[in-house]
Amino acid sequence: MYRRRDLFSLGLTTPFLVRRAHGQRRYSLLLKGGRVIDPSQGLNAVRDVAVADGKVAAIEPDISPREAERTVPVPGQLVVPGLVDLHVHGFEGMSYWGLDIDQHCVTRGVTTAVDGGTSGADSFDGFRRLVIRPARTRILAFLNISRIGLVGRPGELVDMRMIDADVALKAAREHEDVIVGIKVRCGADLTGPNDIHALRTARKVGDAIGKPLMIHLGNPHSPTEALVREARPGDMFTHSFRAPGTGGVADKDGNIPGYVLDAAKRGIHFDVGHGIGGFAFATAEAALKVGLLPSSISTDIHAPSALGPVFDMPTTLSKFLMLGLSLDKVIELATIAPARLISRSAEFGSLRPGFPADIAVLELVQGDFSFFDASRSVRKHNQKLVSVLTLREGRLP
Ligand SMILES: [Zn+2]
Repeated sequence: MYRRRDLFSLGLTTPFLVRRAHGQRRYSLLLKGGRVIDPSQGLNAVRDVAVADGKVAAIEPDISPREAERTVPVPGQLVVPGLVDLHVHGFEGMSYWGLDIDQHCVTRGVTTAVDGGTSGADSFDGFRRLVIRPARTRILAFLNISRIGLVGRPGELVDMRMIDADVALKAAREHEDVIVGIKVRCGADLTGPNDIHALRTARKVGDAIGKPLMIHLGNPHSPTEALVREARPGDMFTHSFRAPGTGGVADKDGNIPGYVLDAAKRGIHFDVGHGIGGFAFATAEAALKVGLLPSSISTDIHAPSALGPVFDMPTTLSKFLMLGLSLDKVIELATIAPARLISRSAEFGSLRPGFPADIAVLELVQGDFSFFDASRSVRKHNQKLVSVLTLREGRLP
């Protein structure tokens, strides 16, 4: 089931493997001695995790290696549900933003990646065939309300003809198993004066399929307050914690206005969506100070941001450790919390027995690290999360 070649390529050489040649084993794989952090079941303890038939089979204080075909000792490492990144961009070569999701996600602890609207109705069929179907990462997607999606860099909603509820709804219904909501990018350069019209069209489609909106914030044509007032409980904003005065949750003085806090109380979510312009330490600090936590931590990893300052999901999570969130909270905001936001918490985001064995083994490395936000502000911290090993349905990618 596991090709040795795969294990070698991940730096796991024979001494780390306890190989058992004979007899019937209950489990295909055993991760032994790691610290399991699974916020979906309030678990933070040293536990063994056994996998069978691609699913989590058992989590116990001590499971014998005799019961498993393979044992990987992971003492001192963190065993967490496979990370769920709510905002990525696939479709390499087709979109200005697109990258190879497997190369940047399942190799870095992310077993579920949600595409943030790279495709609209006109290209979703291709996105499904060429990106979703062959990937090892589980890929879901927000459908862009612009029928052309993000082929080019600017202006997918400037031309009103690109905003068509009927074509979007047809695509959303045809691909309803993988579409988790509707994406609208609200930025003056992206929409011209059409932002509210695009939002309301997206709402129509979202209502018809019973799914929320993901709304990109960034120097919008309409005031941010007007966009927040259009949102309904269950919707999520992304790039929320961008630099003060650029259309995110912080005004130009760096304060979090009351209408944002009221919206959070009403059940409107504020996702991170770091990217190359969507995240500033100063805004995150101001938000945390008034009790506004991100509802989910996502990367907005795409072709430019993968080269920095995003790099990958563990680096993005490390920035929130630096900002003072607990390790348990950070893992929650990257596993069960995003799974809940897209109504998939019965399918992934947890290590409860019976769930797919989507598992990230991470290490919290100690040292002297510099972290950069999207404005290239720098903060130092003495800890950093790195990906050690990822299992997708019990298998190495
Ligand atoms: Zn994005």
